[in-house]
Amino acid sequence: MITPRDVATFRSVIERAKLYVLVTHVNPDGDAIGSQVGLGRYLLSMGFEVRIVNQDETPHDLRFLEFDGPFTERYDASRHDGLLDAADAIVLVDNSAPDRLGRMEAPVRARTAKTLCIDHHPTRGTPWARNVIDTSASATAVLIYELVREVGGTPDRASAEALYAGLATDTGFFRFNSTSPRAFRIAAELLEAGAEPTRCYREVYERNTLAYTRLLGRALASASLGEGGTVASAGITIGMIDACGAAGVDTSEFTTPLLAIDGVRVAILFRELPGGKVKVSLRSKGELDVSLMAAEFGGGGHRNASGIVMPGRFEEIVDRVSARAVTLAADGR
Ligand code: 5GP
Ligand code: MN
Repeated sequence: MITPRDVATFRSVIERAKLYVLVTHVNPDGDAIGSQVGLGRYLLSMGFEVRIVNQDETPHDLRFLEFDGPFTERYDASRHDGLLDAADAIVLVDNSAPDRLGRMEAPVRARTAKTLCIDHHPTRGTPWARNVIDTSASATAVLIYELVREVGGTPDRASAEALYAGLATDTGFFRFNSTSPRAFRIAAELLEAGAEPTRCYREVYERNTLAYTRLLGRALASASLGEGGTVASAGITIGMIDACGAAGVDTSEFTTPLLAIDGVRVAILFRELPGGKVKVSLRSKGELDVSLMAAEFGGGGHRNASGIVMPGRFEEIVDRVSARAVTLAADGR
């Protein structure tokens, strides 16, 4: 639950700051953008100035969340460092890890004194000046909603839709075990405020390109099971992406059908990145925690959904990470 102290932290910022820059993690997801838009619209309604500046562009399937603004901007040092200087507050949403700011890490760290972090990811302490961190929240959107309500705000229809989208996508449309009574209560309030669940699902999940569908097919055709049938993995090479014309396609949902195989407890998707790196997406069921395993390889995330970006040869990384996942599935750690 959000605490009186969290509310006081939020209030102390909005009582003083007029110009806000909202930032989030690399490869922003629904919760990242939904939280930024939800908070941004509230701050605008209070007469403040708001800019949303992220290292990466907003993916196409999330653009609908921007409505009539504030619009997301892609970080460019020459255009935005002056803005970061002028800002009264830099608000990090859905991210407390400095390295997940990507190219924005150094410029934000250099202005730590005016940072406020609102997040639901587990952390071992942050460098930020003010923090509202609640790992029991299903999504950062929940925290934004609660903070805005606590200080007397009411989300407008677009904010409600954006926050609903953040909550819905981070809970896998209310099926992950991060789903809670609190999540459903807030979802209900967001529906009352005008969010449309059918439209939201359609916008996010039913606007795939043919290239996406073909790449999904090729990735799933590569699926294999580790020893004992508890680990399913699949790989996507740059060659496959090129063959499908699928550059820039977000593949993290490809893990869902892998995890749906009977008996599988851990799903792994390997994706070759340019520059000799590999993105690893890890998913697990129930109590099995993939975040510690991800941390061993330099990544992180949640118990049931984590990720890693690793330098190295594709096949080598597949072998190393798969072997570790087999012991995790067998021993539970
Ligand atoms: P995905 O597989 O969808 O990209 O990531 C799942 C989750 O793992 C994300 O929500 C995020 O919390 C975490 N994550 C993904 N990539 C990284 C990474 O490179 N480093 C860290 N620390 N966490 C990551
Ligand atoms: Mn989130």
